[in-house]
Amino acid sequence: MTQVAIECVQGNIANQPDIDAIVNAANARLMPGSGVAGAIHSAAGPGLAEECRDLAPIEPGQAVISGGHNLPNARVIHCLGPVYGVDTPSEELLADCYRNALGLADREGLSSIAFPAISTGVFGYPIEEAAEVAVAAIRKASPGLTSVRLIRLVLFSDDDLAVFRSALAATPPET
Ligand code: ADP
Repeated sequence: MTQVAIECVQGNIANQPDIDAIVNAANARLMPGSGVAGAIHSAAGPGLAEECRDLAPIEPGQAVISGGHNLPNARVIHCLGPVYGVDTPSEELLADCYRNALGLADREGLSSIAFPAISTGVFGYPIEEAAEVAVAAIRKASPGLTSVRLIRLVLFSDDDLAVFRSALAATPPET
């Protein structure tokens, strides 16, 4: 069986045209907001918020899937990350986001998915800790995936990219 590729790139999550599903660092109401949610909703157009009305609200750690509307991606997977130290245990809830999003993408038969650094903006999760949790959750889920073959982590800044790259290099693949 072919391996799942995991890569880290610097970029904008709303501009990943070669990816089947992008992940939104959503708010509970799945409405446009700042950061990732703002970028995704403005690129997707108002149809995304309209579709999301029926899917909301969601809980920390949960993931739901919608269409991509005007985005170049077929689907958007909306995850509500934990507010650091407020939604607890934050580590488990953040890992749940990655695990649940990967499970959804796989069940939908998608082959590629791109994540932003969930919870590391307004929700205050320290980037080093978030990178470790994200990479561990992805490494753990990867062997069980049958459809997803590319997992991309999209970091907004070069500094965040360096942190995620070293977390990925420090964590061996599960066998
Ligand atoms: P949360 O509310 O889950 O903390 P944010 O959207 O505030 O989510 O930020 C999550 C992370 O995504 C932050 O590290 C932020 O710098 C980064 N980010 C913001 N906009 C974008 C974007 N367009 N593409 C990729 N990453 C982004």
